[in-house]
Amino acid sequence: MSERDELAADLLAHGRFLAGLEPVGVVWPPKGAAALPTPTPAVEVLGAPSADRAAALAAVRAELGDCQRCRLAGGRKTIVFGQGNPEAELMFIGEGPGADEDEQGLAFVGRAGQLLTDIIEKGMKLRRADVWIGNVIKCRPPQNRNPEPDEILSCQPFLEAQIRAIRPRVLVGLGKFGAHWLLKTAEPITRLRGRVGDYEGIPVMPTYHPAYLLRNPAGKKDVWEDMKEVLRLLGRLVPGE
Ligand code: URA
Repeated sequence: MSERDELAADLLAHGRFLAGLEPVGVVWPPKGAAALPTPTPAVEVLGAPSADRAAALAAVRAELGDCQRCRLAGGRKTIVFGQGNPEAELMFIGEGPGADEDEQGLAFVGRAGQLLTDIIEKGMKLRRADVWIGNVIKCRPPQNRNPEPDEILSCQPFLEAQIRAIRPRVLVGLGKFGAHWLLKTAEPITRLRGRVGDYEGIPVMPTYHPAYLLRNPAGKKDVWEDMKEVLRLLGRLVPGE
């Protein structure tokens, strides 16, 4: 997104926020000013041009603000909102930020992130910048411990809204936390992986987390099978087939 588009999206999101303050006595836009564009309802985001999807995402980011909704706020350096193309057809959902992500404010930028980049670019022959990459939680847990259920619940409306804004054609759940969140199940990832599920009508491919693959490289073969199926779901060419 260009800087101009980003600014426009931010302004639009801010305008919508102000317009929502009417019940508490703030009238916006002021009488006589040009009306704001009608807010885009979530379902209409489907097939919408990029400015609408980007604006919807910017509105989610604005709503998140300097989030203090759970205890993780106290220990984080940066909120990791997720990043990529607001028009992405493919969205990857991981667990939560680690130290590198917390430092840089970006999802999957450490060693696991490098492996994810390789899976996307070298394996699937897509550009990382063309997909969207996010997490179940947006703040780093202390000592990289697992997210607690109440922390996941605090973050849930924001990830739901991000998916509604982007409306990808396929979702990939990375590891147990990404897969469980998307599929609303607690089945072990070893049983889930490779079987296409559903999140609000969007096909979901659960697969192993790249951090697991760093410790267990033998799992890469399975992940490659899963990514080939993702490419088929997207109607894309499968390298080597
Ligand atoms: N692991 C995750 O699940 N998410 C990140 O962003 C980085 C590592």
